[in-house]
Amino acid sequence: MSTTRALQRVITAQRTSDGAGVTLNRSLGQSQFARLDPFLMLDEFGSDRPDEYIAGFPAHPHRGFETVTYMLAGRMRHEDHLGNVGLLGAGDVQWMTAASGVVHEELHTPEFSKTGGVFEAVQLWVNLPASHKMSAPRYQGIVSGGIPIADLGPKASGRVIAGAWEGVQGPAYTVTPINVFDLDLMADSRVTIPIPERHCSGVVLLHGDAEIQGQPYPGEAHIAVLSRDGDAVTLHAKTNAKLLILSGEPINEPVASYGPFVMNTREEIMQAMDDYRAGRMGHLS
Ligand code: MN
Repeated sequence: MSTTRALQRVITAQRTSDGAGVTLNRSLGQSQFARLDPFLMLDEFGSDRPDEYIAGFPAHPHRGFETVTYMLAGRMRHEDHLGNVGLLGAGDVQWMTAASGVVHEELHTPEFSKTGGVFEAVQLWVNLPASHKMSAPRYQGIVSGGIPIADLGPKASGRVIAGAWEGVQGPAYTVTPINVFDLDLMADSRVTIPIPERHCSGVVLLHGDAEIQGQPYPGEAHIAVLSRDGDAVTLHAKTNAKLLILSGEPINEPVASYGPFVMNTREEIMQAMDDYRAGRMGHLS
């Protein structure tokens, strides 16, 4: 018999701009209080106006964590200093473990004729434990067709990006135990989704209208943080709805962050800034 988790709090996404002028909705990461260990940041991009996304994110570094980009519509071109080049399309995932340092660019390409100019994506920042912050970087380019689907009956389907669900294993390798599920629900469907007991967890509504544990969902792009006790969450779609289910074992270490660097101490942040300035994190040619 499973016990379900309650909706504990809502982090309301704030509309902001980052990169070279990309409009986005930021829930996790908008302040040091808006974190959900091990998740540091969650940005949701969605626009049909090229001036809100086309500038993209020119060359910039990361150290100490992972960036996970999930494309929903449009295309993004990525290149990093290690020579990984990718063009992400709808349904593709890029799981980039920056660890000791990656310099990369993420450009929202203008090839949108097939999708009517819509760019839609989610970027999640996943923390790394101190023991892995200075490991070698790793790049996982996961194409849409490589993401298995959990069978949830005729009115619901779940893409398993990371972790396991209903015996289906997601393709992403994760350093600490993490589940990322993308759930599509038809209007009036109800599902109960398992959440491992030790995980912190949250639900993000990307489209539609839904209830969590019988309570109305607070709105698109906001994150509903669930309580720590219980091993499942129940969702009820009021309309066709798309949701992300995030959960992970908390790392429980101090977080020192500055811009694109997330370490454990202030000294390590200073070192990261020095290393980047001196070119020790690498160069984009
Ligand atoms: Mn980046």
